[in-house]
Amino acid sequence: QKAEWEKLKNEATVTADGKHFDIAANIGTPDDLQGVIDNGAEGVGLYRTEFLYMQSEELPTEDDQFNAYKKVLEGMNGKAVVVRTMDIGGDKHLSYLPLPEEMNPFLGYRAIRISLDRQEIFRTQLRALLRASAFGQLRIMFPMIGTLQEFRDAKKIFEEEKSKLVAKGVEVSDNIQLGMMMEVPAAAILADQFAKEVDFFSIGTNDLIQYTMAADRGNEHVSYLYQPYNPSILRLVKHVIDSAHKEGKWAGMCGEAAGDNIMVPLLLGMGLDEYSMSATSVLRVRSLMKKLSTADLKELAEKAVSESVTNEDNEKLVESYINK
Ligand code: PEP
Ligand code: MG
Repeated sequence: QKAEWEKLKNEATVTADGKHFDIAANIGTPDDLQGVIDNGAEGVGLYRTEFLYMQSEELPTEDDQFNAYKKVLEGMNGKAVVVRTMDIGGDKHLSYLPLPEEMNPFLGYRAIRISLDRQEIFRTQLRALLRASAFGQLRIMFPMIGTLQEFRDAKKIFEEEKSKLVAKGVEVSDNIQLGMMMEVPAAAILADQFAKEVDFFSIGTNDLIQYTMAADRGNEHVSYLYQPYNPSILRLVKHVIDSAHKEGKWAGMCGEAAGDNIMVPLLLGMGLDEYSMSATSVLRVRSLMKKLSTADLKELAEKAVSESVTNEDNEKLVESYINK
């Protein structure tokens, strides 16, 4: 099987009925680029920049960050790179940035909530990104957006930093898409409103499942509740995709589910545009998509979204279709 997948390395991702989709890779550092290239990914769909902060003894400087972002953009040779602004907090800590002890860290001070509060950290990151944008196709997304106000505030800060750099004569791309992670249920429910203001969504199922099911993503005692194919998750995902498309925007997924053998057929049926996963999954999923026809899957996904009751219903639905 590995040998068969290997042959797909330099091929585009096309389904049995001729539809093209982008399979991108998730990375944590510029060192991960080689794996992305070796596995023939069509872009980077999630660059988790918090690793830059976690590997450092102090806040990374604007230049440190600029160099890392530039390396990734240049390495991808004009292919799209979606950079997520810092997602610290929850289970990710920085020795040099003490965060308050919290009862519920995953519901607490993290990600965009920190960025909007500690704006000097956020503005430094945005300046580094803006400067790097001249070296490739940069897209930026904000993690853990829960309200439209948060997105508007983040966008405003981005625009301010951009204007300041442009006024100074710094070269900055005029074509940076600004999007958001869809990982907070409140935002997913209001996706139709968000879609009017963002350039794209990237669905973060790792967190979206945890928050929708009220089940800690790392807690084995409640892992039975962590159900990627639960109809509630599928309905949210469908609503996010449809809302994006209604406004002419694109929707991707960068949580683990994007590379899942059961989920991929359902996502194709729902019309998800971009699939971002660990580099080692890219060829497996490309091979799977080649065998699938989106026309059939549309019906399958409709059925899953409107008729299914349990996680297992959907698992069986897809399995019986694949083994047919
Ligand atoms: C997610 O929540 O699905 C996601 C991709 O982000 P992370 O796993 O970094 O929280
Ligand atoms: Mg997340």
